[in-house]
Amino acid sequence: MNTANIVGNDRIPAIEGRELQVLDPATDELVATVPDSGPEETRRAIDAAASAFEQWRLVPPSERAEVLLTFADALKTDRERLASILTREQGKPLAESRAEIDYAASFLPVAAEAGVEILEERVDIPGKDVRVLQRPVGVTAAITPWNFPIAMLAKKTAPAMAAGCVQVIKPAEQTPLSGIAFVELGLEAGIPPGVLNVVTGTPGPIGDALLADSRVRKISFTGSTEVGRHLMRGGAENLLRLSLELGGHAPMIVFEDADLDRAIEVAMKAKFRNAGQTCISPNRFLVHHRLHDAFVERLADAASNLVSGRGDRDGVDLGPLIDDVAVAKVFDHIDDALARGAEIASGGGRRNPPGLTDRFPEPTVLLNTGPGMRCWHEETFGPVCPVRSFTDDEEAIELANRSDHGLAGYAVTDDPVRIERIARDLQAGIIGVNDGAPAVASVPFGGIRHSGFGREGGRWGVLEHLETITVSRIP
Ligand code: ADP
Repeated sequence: MNTANIVGNDRIPAIEGRELQVLDPATDELVATVPDSGPEETRRAIDAAASAFEQWRLVPPSERAEVLLTFADALKTDRERLASILTREQGKPLAESRAEIDYAASFLPVAAEAGVEILEERVDIPGKDVRVLQRPVGVTAAITPWNFPIAMLAKKTAPAMAAGCVQVIKPAEQTPLSGIAFVELGLEAGIPPGVLNVVTGTPGPIGDALLADSRVRKISFTGSTEVGRHLMRGGAENLLRLSLELGGHAPMIVFEDADLDRAIEVAMKAKFRNAGQTCISPNRFLVHHRLHDAFVERLADAASNLVSGRGDRDGVDLGPLIDDVAVAKVFDHIDDALARGAEIASGGGRRNPPGLTDRFPEPTVLLNTGPGMRCWHEETFGPVCPVRSFTDDEEAIELANRSDHGLAGYAVTDDPVRIERIARDLQAGIIGVNDGAPAVASVPFGGIRHSGFGREGGRWGVLEHLETITVSRIP
């Protein structure tokens, strides 16, 4: 398979010959090397994109839609191969990788349809003929994280292409192979060369080259709040458009009327996908005091039964964390919580499956957690469930909103008044009520406050890639 940069029709290594190693996080085996590119490779990718834009923007939306649909079919046909690349460099269980490919593919038809449906409008002004048009913004860039390397890319790439934009993609350095494989498949499916380009390498120089080039009109980024701020600052000179999907710190509120089976189902689904390395994963569990003990007992039990191991082995629920930094953070959060009065209901240690790296923390349930603990303010990004009980709804919502972030939030309740209250007051861009998987391709996905701005998914994702132009004519 190709492991080089994709620039227009060319596959180019790093000009200065530097390479980055891609390691299997479960074993530390070398999977491949990719170019460690810099400003020059990035400039060439922007050149290729800018030149492809001149044709792609003129292709009728319905024809662009056809290409996107063919790409979606190719992803489904090639699911097994892509899933194994994804699991190898990222670690997640194969079943989750397959689901990620399907989820990624689902963005293509949604964007294709939205691209066709966003039409010119007319505004009725006496004596004038006023048209409101949508134009593609031009060359865009996608900077993606390692936790869902294919899905996060599809979320950015599908609406960009549907809108008539072209893209330079910088995948995360831990998981570049999935991004390369995704784009190669797209090109085989008929996306014209230059519409999608991939540059791999250490992020700083590539990011700075994207920010410095005035031809780049928009960056879609998913990653940390810190890097999001860096892109905002760096984009100021060129008045760059940004969509920033930044970190989260999702609360999950289990209200007094909650059905316990349902609460556990939602918690398990939302928390342990990708071993907790998910930006919409709950990082605080707020449970009504009458349900608290039973909830904790059942959550601890269900969490302990999850099987850790290599993602390509049958029956594995939890793969490794991505790297040693991620593992250290999980244990820092556990140690800090314990030092501040929390207790362990289950887990707390390492699983150490034989022959594998020590990146398999036990799924952990912590009791008596609360504000002041690191796990209440920083994204843990691992299989840790900090729990706290509450006595009334006011307290639950106040605690839930004690975060600068606002990406996802969850509630378990069937009470219509509580549901309305949550919809009105919970500080989150995506709210799941009895729903541990609220993100689907046809709905907007994105955060508020320090979780960023801009939406991916549905027509909202496509609109982010269009400029609205008014043409006012006096007949
Ligand atoms: P995480 O902590 O999830 O790895 P990051 O924000 O560091 O989050 O990374 C998300 C993406 O942003 C990755 O593709 C990474 O390479 C990229 N990135 C990191 N630093 C920069 C930067 N200075 N400029 C552009 N992209 C960056």
